[in-house]
Amino acid sequence: MKRNVLIVLSLIIVVGAGVVLTVSMSPTKELNVTINESPNKPVILIVIDSLMNEPLQKAILDNKAPALSFLINNGYIEPQVISSYPTMSVTIDSTLLTGTYANEHKIPGLIWFKEDENRMISYGSGLSEMWHNGIKNVALDSVFRLNNEHLSKDVQTIHEQLATRNIQSASINGLLYRGNVKHSLHVPKLISTANLLPKEIITNGPTLLSLGALAQYNPHNDRHKFIWKRMGVNNDFTVGELEYLIQHKKLPPFTLAYLPDADAPIHKNGPGDIKAIEDADQSLQEMLNSYSSWEEAIQQATWIIVGDSGQSTVKDDKETALIDLTELLHHYSIWERENTDGQIAIAINERMAYVYVNDKNVELTEVVNTLKQDERIHFIAWKDNETNYVVSPKSNQSLTFSPNGPHVDEYNQSWFINGDKTILDFTINNQGFVQYNNYPDALARLHGALHSQEGSFLIVDAKPSFEFIGEHSHDHAGGGAHGSLHKVDSIVPLIVVGTDEKPTFNRLADMKKWITRLVDGS
Ligand SMILES: [Zn+2]
Repeated sequence: MKRNVLIVLSLIIVVGAGVVLTVSMSPTKELNVTINESPNKPVILIVIDSLMNEPLQKAILDNKAPALSFLINNGYIEPQVISSYPTMSVTIDSTLLTGTYANEHKIPGLIWFKEDENRMISYGSGLSEMWHNGIKNVALDSVFRLNNEHLSKDVQTIHEQLATRNIQSASINGLLYRGNVKHSLHVPKLISTANLLPKEIITNGPTLLSLGALAQYNPHNDRHKFIWKRMGVNNDFTVGELEYLIQHKKLPPFTLAYLPDADAPIHKNGPGDIKAIEDADQSLQEMLNSYSSWEEAIQQATWIIVGDSGQSTVKDDKETALIDLTELLHHYSIWERENTDGQIAIAINERMAYVYVNDKNVELTEVVNTLKQDERIHFIAWKDNETNYVVSPKSNQSLTFSPNGPHVDEYNQSWFINGDKTILDFTINNQGFVQYNNYPDALARLHGALHSQEGSFLIVDAKPSFEFIGEHSHDHAGGGAHGSLHKVDSIVPLIVVGTDEKPTFNRLADMKKWITRLVDGS
């Protein structure tokens, strides 16, 4: 069946703290939507931001999550799935969509320094940080360059891979959405005149691309009109779009839908926030209600619900909770938009940060030794060609590792390993087999971040309860934060209804292969 759909597009830039800059666009676009022709049931993947198993179990016990209970009772829950690194949304979404870590997909974090352009890339974080990185750049980086330039062309997203087999897919409110179909976004005069964005943006998305006020299908979905609702990048809008696709029988073989709302309250109230799960469950109830019954919903589609990262409680007292990297590195001049010759550039990703040594006269080890003085930092890592180095304030030794060596880990990856393994809390047994503890899939994930970009830089990773700050970063003292390699930030639950097939390993990096298999049966 083919049908032309009139859509209204507008452009939206979301900023972590919930601040939004919006740009509306009004092109009319013809879309040929074919309904599901795959022999398999359509797969609906719902990502719930910051969904964690412990508060989920508590919500279920308190009878506050009927939809999640229903799905678990009719399928299964895998409570411990490993996220990506850094545990920040865009890096995680890239892993989920491409089945690779940051060394391959090349999205290093929410904030990173692009050496060849001598500028900070931010996909939207705190208001002050956005201001310092330039609103125009944040707008272009988050909506356009993230998908069309920064995400490596050497990897394929689920959407792209399905398209090679002529299988259509949809993305609802996902910031990472790259696909094979050109979508034209027309920026209104006011904004293009203000020179914030070009008049027209052509972006590559899946067959159906829905992104808040940027692009919508349900003509009655007015759940994005208010700035306090983040212009459509919210649970209600996602529900409205999915409902529309289901009720109009336009659900493609694969749909990725994001429920972003839980992140903000958990940052504010800490990881124990049950209300955030109640709200996400409410959205799931509405989705299931799009069918004649919940039983019908799980008959008609395969449902996969997954979190993106955990969160760690951050101590109340700002003095102890917040590791101020500008203060620790005050002997150096710090890169700023107004001081692009700064010796050191700092890109804060909450409980993880990249520290770039831009001045060739500054020794990396000198910066490492300065940072090593702070006991709240769990480890400092850097690379020299293929060899990765890790040190910690708690150890006098270092750990070095690189891929393709004699030691095989739980995920069939092999490594050369030397030095103090306690730094990343793993052991090697008599057979040379690597087993991880507090830092799940530590070697591959850290290797990923260390090889995610060019330049001379190091990674700092905070112990649980602590968070990094720089001159302009927003902090979460007394609440929750993520970003680190530690399991508190890295473990998410997975709920599956409609198939007994499982991913090869319980990692978000293994989801793409599994999902494409579920969708096309190959
Ligand atoms: Zn967050």
